[in-house]
Amino acid sequence: MNGKGERFLKDVLDRFDEAAETLNLDEGLREFLKTPKRVVTVSVPVKMDSGCVKVFIGYRVQHNNARGPYKGGIRYHPDVTLEEVTALAMLMTWKTAVVDLPFGGAKGGVKCNPKEMSRSEIERLTRRYTAAIADVIGPHIDIPAPDVYTDPQTMAWIMDTYSQLKGAPTPEIVTGKPVHVGGSEGREEATSYGVAVCVREAAKKFKIPFKNASIAIQGYGNVGYNAARILHDWGAKIVAVSDSKGGILCRDGLIPEKVMEHKKKTRSVVNFQGAENISNEELLELDVDFLIPAAIEEQITIKNADRIRAKVIVEGANGPTTSEADKILAERGIKVVPDILANAGGVTVSYLEWVQNLQRFRLSREEVLKRLDDKMVKAFDEVLEYSSRYEVDMRKGALLLAVHRVAEAVNSLGIWP
Ligand code: GLU
Repeated sequence: MNGKGERFLKDVLDRFDEAAETLNLDEGLREFLKTPKRVVTVSVPVKMDSGCVKVFIGYRVQHNNARGPYKGGIRYHPDVTLEEVTALAMLMTWKTAVVDLPFGGAKGGVKCNPKEMSRSEIERLTRRYTAAIADVIGPHIDIPAPDVYTDPQTMAWIMDTYSQLKGAPTPEIVTGKPVHVGGSEGREEATSYGVAVCVREAAKKFKIPFKNASIAIQGYGNVGYNAARILHDWGAKIVAVSDSKGGILCRDGLIPEKVMEHKKKTRSVVNFQGAENISNEELLELDVDFLIPAAIEEQITIKNADRIRAKVIVEGANGPTTSEADKILAERGIKVVPDILANAGGVTVSYLEWVQNLQRFRLSREEVLKRLDDKMVKAFDEVLEYSSRYEVDMRKGALLLAVHRVAEAVNSLGIWP
């Protein structure tokens, strides 16, 4: 096994096997839950600005829909593989179950490098990919959303393409849209808000003073930046942040908005005035209260797990910690609030957006964030309850809770015919 995606998928499947064993699930049900219900691979030909045609490969993996329509984001990234998308689809099934949303799990991806493409090339890619998967998605079938390197604009193009194909405006086909075309207030910062709630709750439960708690964040995209902003507003101290080009450290605390202004100007957080430049590796190993990996998978691995010095890791990204690293962190007493709980704020507000679209009404930002906060606190407590009931860490506790809920749904529905 050499590919990154394959390793990631193996990790996700192994963790599931462990949970299935603890829950004593029967063999057939295990097999059923390990196999995605539908896997779609499409070619996405795009006329590039130069006039030549490039063919990209796109995927949509629908893992399970026993608890409701498939739900999950679409990522554009050069490293996208079918194995990676499959692993992420399975994680979505567990995530929607942890926060008890009436959704299943799916994920999509197109292997491309959006950083090297123009806006109109990305638009044509998005529209053609949407057309290619239009028959398998739908407001009551499968509802996409943003993920790595896709954003509200991408979602607007998906909505428009789908609506054109169906001949009717269909905002409920996708979540994470701009607010003026049916997006929800609070959706853009929802994942980060959920991450911040997890930091707050973890501080409470693990008795770490929240005021001035030191926080390092890997990744300064939508999730990392907004988490920094919210946690800073709430009184924590953001001591280090990074992006794909490198990181910065300032023990006195950074002002997230100022760092963002600098990143907009220079395309990176690196060389921010008053801060020391550090590498991404160094950021992960800082002596801080909370470490928030908010970039991509497999960042905390067997290679660096014994050097991590954070008290608690709150996973803003999907799959940032490998299962080998998990074991080392557990032995060293480092707590991990796992991805399927920590970053579930995004899909939670996606659910609120979808409901608002279906019913053609709007919630205020305050109402959205209040509901999100309540849902995250409830899920956090339920995960802790499962962890202590089974005497396992939070990752296993969250998975046990999720798999239990999904298995219960599958068992009630039965296998047809
Ligand atoms: N891509 C996000 C995630 O991984 C959001 C998914 C959604 O809102 O459907 O959770």
